[in-house]
Amino acid sequence: MKIAVLALQGAFYEHETILQKLGADCMELRKKEDLSEPFNGLILPGGESTAQGKLLREFNMFESLQDKIRTGLPVLATCAGLILLAQQSSNDEHTYFKTLPVMVRRNAYGRQLGSFHTVQDFGGLKDIPMTFIRAPYIESVRDDVEILAKVNDHIVGVRYKNQLAISFHPELDSDLRIHRMFLNMVDSQN
Ligand code: GLN
Repeated sequence: MKIAVLALQGAFYEHETILQKLGADCMELRKKEDLSEPFNGLILPGGESTAQGKLLREFNMFESLQDKIRTGLPVLATCAGLILLAQQSSNDEHTYFKTLPVMVRRNAYGRQLGSFHTVQDFGGLKDIPMTFIRAPYIESVRDDVEILAKVNDHIVGVRYKNQLAISFHPELDSDLRIHRMFLNMVDSQN
């Protein structure tokens, strides 16, 4: 099983470290040519969604990745990655892949003071550490999107078909369960 990590900008290296701990092979996506190598799953890391969106277009990677996600490639998207997947944004004119039928709110906790840590349940997983950094949350979802976690009544984790999208940064904590959940998703689709 090989997991590709989008490595244009942001916290991609931390995801690779976790994948290695879990014994999964990984590769970095930095340019169009990297997309021709086969891989079974994709991680869209946190960072700046505007910068990532721009680089995806500049490097001609956008369409091909969008196509792969649309046609069922398992994806784990964290923070800015969630913004890249969202169909709509309530406070930003930009949208990107639009494969996830949710309405996202960017920098939803404020720009400067928006970083915090909490521990909450996530899907069937108990007491998951959650680090939020200028994070988005999800304001609303279509009926067929499964809500996995809420913090203070705001949705911070969802699953829709092949897409697992979360507001916080599991790669910055030492708990491996969310990545393991994703690898199980990849396993069951292959
Ligand atoms: N604030 C960033 C954005 O809007 C997301 C922050 C993050 O990925 N930690 O793209």
